[in-house]
Amino acid sequence: MLDDTISIKIEKTTNSKIKDVDWENLPFGKVFSDHILEMDYSDGRWHEPVIKPFQALSLHPATSAIHYGQSIFEGMKANRAENGDILLFRPDMNAKRFAESSERLCMPTIPESVFTELVRKIVEVDKDWIPNKEGYSLYIRPFMFATDDFIGIKPSDTYKFMIFTCPVGVYYSNPVNVKIEEFYTRAARGGVGRAKTAGNYAASLYPAKKGQEEGFHQLVWTDGIEHKYIEESGTMNIVFVIDGKLITPSEDSDTILRGVTKRSVVEIAQHWGVEVEERKVTVAEIIEAAKDGSLEDAFGAGTAATIAPIAKIGYRGEVYDLPPVESRTISNKIKNYLSDVKTGKVEDTMNWCLKV
Ligand SMILES: *Cc1c(COP(=O)(O)O)cnc(C)c1O
Repeated sequence: MLDDTISIKIEKTTNSKIKDVDWENLPFGKVFSDHILEMDYSDGRWHEPVIKPFQALSLHPATSAIHYGQSIFEGMKANRAENGDILLFRPDMNAKRFAESSERLCMPTIPESVFTELVRKIVEVDKDWIPNKEGYSLYIRPFMFATDDFIGIKPSDTYKFMIFTCPVGVYYSNPVNVKIEEFYTRAARGGVGRAKTAGNYAASLYPAKKGQEEGFHQLVWTDGIEHKYIEESGTMNIVFVIDGKLITPSEDSDTILRGVTKRSVVEIAQHWGVEVEERKVTVAEIIEAAKDGSLEDAFGAGTAATIAPIAKIGYRGEVYDLPPVESRTISNKIKNYLSDVKTGKVEDTMNWCLKV
């Protein structure tokens, strides 16, 4: 079994692709760094991890993840500080969530300290791929999937854990228009909504496409029972500001993914003395607040965009306009602060960053 003294085999590429990168035009998730980390699970244990040149996978057509969906992932970022330090933002939270997703999907867990160390290692090996430009970062994608070549429903006996990284540009979070979804459901109580598992995203594509046909960028998911309570927005958590108070759906329900960004937003706001309510949030109260003008702000929170302001909310054929983004003092301030912490521009008083 893996412990804290893991040894990692490293085979470096002799043919770096870094010189081919167009750093001025980095599309999100399409440029891959030189190396990939791979660690296999079989015979009831994890084997020695390897970092090797980025390459395609060869899989048996019966690979069980493809048929039955035992597949989970994480998303996180590394940034370069002005003093040259490489910083990971709260990787312990991703490690913990990955272990929780593993358990829910009947997959073997990776000790949190090992997960973090493996992330640290792959980032160190491909550190030249961390862009130097303001707002740019290295996106990190750890994932695990079932590899038994067996057509039968049972937890796989073998798994592959991998990490690759992608240099990514500024995520221009133009304000988005969202529609409150009252028919389709992202996650049902007792289901897998809290896990970062592949099937959740497959299930959201069709309703999202329907919403896009109506002119909305994203959906606001509501609870699967009554469609009365707000849960998330697209693949981000959702936060509202009403009368100066930050209001966000509580995470006791296992239908909401526990986001690192949302947690950080809440903690910063509390630290600054902003009143925060984590509780059930009804669609009715948000629409009421939008109508009477007390809804000052609504935004999505996630690793890719950090904070994505919502411009318009569609509900039952009506569209409600939110105040201009410049007027949204709290979320703008939080967004800047988060960016400054991640890039070492302000003191990391919360002890959130891990130096690679
Ligand atoms: C990843 C994800 C989020 C955001 O989580 P972060 O840790 O902030 O990136 C929110 N909702 C869903 C459904 C997600 O997959």
